[in-house]
Amino acid sequence: MRIIKIGLVLGLLGLAGFGQAQAQDTYGATKYPIVLVHGLFGFNSILGVDYFYGIAADLQTHGASVYTTEVSSVNSSDIRGEQLVTQVSQILAVSGASKVNLVGHSQGAQTIRYAAAALPGKVASVTSVDGVILGSSVADFVLSLEAATGGVITPVINSLLNGLGLVIDSASGQGNLPQDAQASLTVLSTAGSTAFNKRFPAGVPTTACGDGAAVVNGVGYYSWTGNKISTNVFDISDPILALAGAAFGATPNDGLVAICASHLGKVIGDQYDMNHLDAVNQVLGLVGTTDPVALFRQHANRLKLAGN
Ligand code: CA
Repeated sequence: MRIIKIGLVLGLLGLAGFGQAQAQDTYGATKYPIVLVHGLFGFNSILGVDYFYGIAADLQTHGASVYTTEVSSVNSSDIRGEQLVTQVSQILAVSGASKVNLVGHSQGAQTIRYAAAALPGKVASVTSVDGVILGSSVADFVLSLEAATGGVITPVINSLLNGLGLVIDSASGQGNLPQDAQASLTVLSTAGSTAFNKRFPAGVPTTACGDGAAVVNGVGYYSWTGNKISTNVFDISDPILALAGAAFGATPNDGLVAICASHLGKVIGDQYDMNHLDAVNQVLGLVGTTDPVALFRQHANRLKLAGN
């Protein structure tokens, strides 16, 4: 019965980690499991393609225990955060670990901050990768369009974004997760992120484009980001990011988030040759000159050396 229960839990989690790649060394052998959390329009794994493309397997090869998660593709960071809290609790139960290291990409950065606040003593570190900390001009732009039309286009936006979220979650085997485009746009906007930061201030920089506190209540806070939009002529997502990146004007960004708006805790680096999707080694490993998988690997070693 216990095996069945664990099997059910693993099925619910859609864990990439079990039956993991054989560890070749202990370079990334963190004390606590690493939990990867996707962003807006994100997923765990679709048709064998992981959102964090090739990253979990690489970390496992270097000795880390890794779990990937799936929260609503399109929703508020509170709803997504609650979903993550449930999954982290399951991961703690299954792994027997006392804490986890949370790593979130894009909106996943807000999601993990919510979970860290909800699980005191259970989170060793919070790491934001190309994360939305001070909001995104793209969300601001879409909300301003809605306002300019007096809300006429809002149902169209909802239909498009919620529909896309449903398709993504369904393809990833989680079609029952709720989608709420307006809630997502709101929390990713500058005003919404500012309100979110008031509730979850840990690690948020208090100086313009500075670092935030590296450790808050014993939890390590880290971030990194790329600063390029177009990095690979073969990647069909580059022109889409170039279009989105236009919302930022001259402000340096990764296609979806301004560099200075991504800072959280100790800033590992913010000048990498990566765009928003390169940061998770997408699409299918088509990236720039920075190897995003190496950044995760080095961070696992950093967490290990920090005793996490
Ligand atoms: Ca790419």
